Amino acid sequence: MVDYYPAPRSRGPDNQGRDPKREKRSGKPIKNLFLLGVGVGFIYWAMASLFCQLTTQDGTYLDHFFHPGIDEILSRVLALCFFVFWGALAIGTMCRRQRACKALSDSEEKYRIIIENIEDGYYEIDRDGRFMIFNNSFRRITGYDALALQRLDYRLLLTPAETKTVIQAFDTVRQTGRPIKDLGFVIVRKDGTPCLVKTSVSLITDRRGKMTGYRGLLKDVSRRRQADALKQEKVAAEAASRSKSEFLANMSHEIRTPLNAIIGMAELLLDSSMTRDQREDLKVVQSAAYALLSVINDVLDFSKIEAGKLELERSAFNLRDFLGEALKILAIKAHEKKIELAYRVAPDVPDRLIGDPHRFRQILLNLIGNAVKFTDSGEIVVFARIKSRQANQLLLHVAVRDTGVGIPAGKQALIFEAFRQADGSTNRKYGGTGLGLAVSAQLVNLMGGRIGVRSELGKGSVFHFTVAFDVDPDATDGTVLPRELHLEGLNILVVDDNETNANILCEMLSSWKMVPKSALSATAGAALMRKMRKRGVDFKLALIDSQLPDPGTLTLVQQLLQETGAAMRIITMLTTTTTKEMDRFYLAGVSAMLTKPVRPSDLLDAIVQALSEKHILTDQRRNHKKAGQDVTIPQLDILVAEDTPFNQKYIRRLLDSWHCRATIVGNGRQALDILSRQTFDLVLMDVQMPDIDGLTATMRIREMEKQTGRHVPIIAMTAHAMRGDRERCLESGMNDYVPKPISAATLLETIRRVLPSTASSSAVEATKHTSTPADDDRTLAELLGAFNNDPSFFKDIAEMFISDYPPMLETIQQAIDAKDGELLGRTAHAIKGMARNFQIDSAADMALRLEQIAGKGEFGQATDLARQLADALTAFEGRLKRMMGRIND
Ligand code: ADP
Repeated sequence: MVDYYPAPRSRGPDNQGRDPKREKRSGKPIKNLFLLGVGVGFIYWAMASLFCQLTTQDGTYLDHFFHPGIDEILSRVLALCFFVFWGALAIGTMCRRQRACKALSDSEEKYRIIIENIEDGYYEIDRDGRFMIFNNSFRRITGYDALALQRLDYRLLLTPAETKTVIQAFDTVRQTGRPIKDLGFVIVRKDGTPCLVKTSVSLITDRRGKMTGYRGLLKDVSRRRQADALKQEKVAAEAASRSKSEFLANMSHEIRTPLNAIIGMAELLLDSSMTRDQREDLKVVQSAAYALLSVINDVLDFSKIEAGKLELERSAFNLRDFLGEALKILAIKAHEKKIELAYRVAPDVPDRLIGDPHRFRQILLNLIGNAVKFTDSGEIVVFARIKSRQANQLLLHVAVRDTGVGIPAGKQALIFEAFRQADGSTNRKYGGTGLGLAVSAQLVNLMGGRIGVRSELGKGSVFHFTVAFDVDPDATDGTVLPRELHLEGLNILVVDDNETNANILCEMLSSWKMVPKSALSATAGAALMRKMRKRGVDFKLALIDSQLPDPGTLTLVQQLLQETGAAMRIITMLTTTTTKEMDRFYLAGVSAMLTKPVRPSDLLDAIVQALSEKHILTDQRRNHKKAGQDVTIPQLDILVAEDTPFNQKYIRRLLDSWHCRATIVGNGRQALDILSRQTFDLVLMDVQMPDIDGLTATMRIREMEKQTGRHVPIIAMTAHAMRGDRERCLESGMNDYVPKPISAATLLETIRRVLPSTASSSAVEATKHTSTPADDDRTLAELLGAFNNDPSFFKDIAEMFISDYPPMLETIQQAIDAKDGELLGRTAHAIKGMARNFQIDSAADMALRLEQIAGKGEFGQATDLARQLADALTAFEGRLKRMMGRIND
């Protein structure tokens, strides 16, 4: 019997399965037979010669050998022929047999090679159950070497629990003669480890059909099972990651939706009249909602970055203005804590950069927000400079330096990990999730930079990071002063008690080739002015911090104006923009005001304005003008498809306050229904809705419009923050997109973008009554101006307005009902005058239209108009009461 445990390589077959030695050996017997034939012939010849010599007694032996007689030759040739014939026959038979043998051995060789090379174990066992033949894989699976396996009883490989079942299966094969496949059981390998296998079993029989043993193929299924399990785990992990992202998107949607309502409603309520305590409480609700929103955003960003789903945008922005805007967001908080907040961009940094400004802002706000949180006094300064530059690529280095509590050396590396804080105790002083820096670190990484911190406990920290940006090659340098302004060489006095701030301002002014000189107190400022005057240098302009310590900013302003004969223009830099504060400076003769931190473009504007003839034009007033334009849109018919009741309510209130007509439906199907019957100026479409969602509804609307030829602008509203949402909305046919929570300003801006005519429409314009307290401050400042800056006069008239206008509205309604044109005209005229006094232009315009209607005696639209007028006046009443509250404050 042949065994298949492999022969050493050198003695094995060649690549084609041939064995050269065997072939060599196969040629030998033929040659040997030939020699044997020759030998036998020779011996026969010699023997025949001897036989002749002995029988004839004639001649010598050599005579018979070399010179036989003719009869002897004949008999010998005959005998030799017989031998040759017999030999040829024998050779033929042997050759045939040899060829058969070779074929057999070749096929055995192939069989052996196949069996040796299969992945599965092959075995043959005799009828007593001992291994006779097995291949390498079988040895690998069982862990036994060839010697140990040879004649080993297969039952010794089985576990006690399964021995009986396996033996039974072998017996069944023996009894039925039918092979079995996939007999699964566990074997114990040589090292004692279990291994799950599957085997096929079939009978081996001899030529007579008698069973001589079993053969089979053995598979190690434990490895395959592990691989399967791994594959399944991978599929499950992918599914889990997918569902995690979906869950996060949904969760963000679910949390943002009610938050949207809370923030929006709080904003609306803050505009109505309420007691001071109620206002304070509501502000707490609003700021808590904003805090919650920022936590949700952090969690969402963190998971998006983890899942590799965060994509960076690419757009151009002006670095200096961008930083100024970003810092302004946190300036109020910093100034409330009496912390100075400033930023300095090195002069050689190009202003127009290309990158992702939103993510850049996010990193900055997190670092500055932390700095504000962990600093109780002193200053926070943001520095930006070039770390390296190659052609149009730049690595910007930004450092946020504070004078706060600092971070212990041992904790400095930890805080960049998620959910880690320097003070992890439960009774810690500062709140937070510990996610902000982790998100920032990952964003910095994504933006091709690195982040780090230097800090000393009790002295402060410097968080620094780098980000890669491209420099906009087409941009002109925004930091260069326009030539036509002729401001080079202008002498400017800078007074700020914060030295960093004074230095930053001086650097900014010097970069425009102006000549600044700085002083760090009011007294030093006045002294510097005098000293320079003596030297013949007149400061044309002074840039003064509004909160200088004693003798204070106002005293300095008065001194400067007095001593220069009011020739000097003065700009003050405010930390708060309250009316009281602004009025104090206007009255003192200040030409322009700026809010801190000062952006270069604002500073330049303020300088130009201050030096111009009509110098009392502050950035605040300009802003107010802008805000005035910002809040007007024509009355629009808007269809809102939104399923959440509180969102419906919020949007209705918002649109009502803009005097737009809102028709609200709860899903895409209802939207389609109503659009098939009615036309609208605009559709606000929630994306996630039951029945028919916003995307499908939009696609169907666009289909419908192919027949009607109409086109209604559609704005998507979605809390989905995942990648590609915006693209999906636009692809479905929507015109634009507002993220939830919906901010009134963003929605307004988007409506204007989608309906450009609304931006400059001369149709009846509605005043947005969702004004902010800052708007109120500005309006109050203007109104006070109109009332001779006399608060008590203003209050008297305001109270009169509040008590008078409701009965007048009633009169208007009665006049309309009675179709009394004279009464309607008279009352509308009176209301118009009142509204103009309080600069409520939209209400005044409505009253004017009522007056005209009354004159013509056409009462068709009067009721509608009266309702709108009532709305506008009621909304203004809320603001007015709040403004009066501020005067009382
Ligand atoms: P959070 O501020 O929400 O706790 P962050 O990840 O932004 O989370 O910050 C992690 C921790 O790093 C903070 O809890 C604080 O201990 C520490 N830290 C961050 N910035 C400053 C800073 N400017 N001064 C002192 N400690 C800081």
